[in-house]
Amino acid sequence: MHCPFCRHPDSRVVDSRTTDDGASIRRRRQCPDCGRRFTTVETASLMVIKRSGVTEPFSRNKVIAGVRKACQGRPVTEDALAQLGQRVEEAVRATGSAELSTHDVGLAILGPLQDLDLVAYLRFASVYRAFDSLEDFDRAITELREQLPPTTPGGLDEDLGVPAPAAATD
Ligand SMILES: [Zn+2]
Repeated sequence: MHCPFCRHPDSRVVDSRTTDDGASIRRRRQCPDCGRRFTTVETASLMVIKRSGVTEPFSRNKVIAGVRKACQGRPVTEDALAQLGQRVEEAVRATGSAELSTHDVGLAILGPLQDLDLVAYLRFASVYRAFDSLEDFDRAITELREQLPPTTPGGLDEDLGVPAPAAATD
C-alpha cells in the first residue's frame, strides 16, 4: 500500500500484531522513501445481505444512523450511540460469520438498544419486527415489563408518559 505522507507506491511491514480480541491485525509500516511510519488495521470483511439480495460491507455507521433515527427526541448522547455501534459490531463479529442478513444485524441491535433507551427500543422493534397493530406494541411492552424489576427508576411508565394508575376512589 502507498505511503499516506508522500504517496510512495510501496511500504514495508516492520511489525505485525493481533489485537487482544483476535478480530484484527495491526501492522506498522515504514515508507522506504520518506522513512515515516504508519499503522494499518486488517479485519475480516463482514458482508450484510440485504432483503433485496444485494450484499454490502457491514457498516457501524449505518447501524448508528438507524438507531439514531429511533432515538429522536430521546436523551441519548452521540457517545452512547457510538458505544452501541461498537457493541453491535463486536456482537456480529463474534458470531464468526463472514456474511449476515440485515435481520441478524437487527437482532444484534435489539439487546444493546433495550439497555440504552426503552422508548427508542420500542420504536426500533416496531419497524424491525413489523408491528402493525396496537396489540403488537402491547405484547412488546408486556415482554419488557416482565424483564424489568417492578420499580425501575425512570421506568417504562414514566418514559412512555403513561400516568400512574389513579388511586381507587371508592
Ligand atoms: Zn513516504
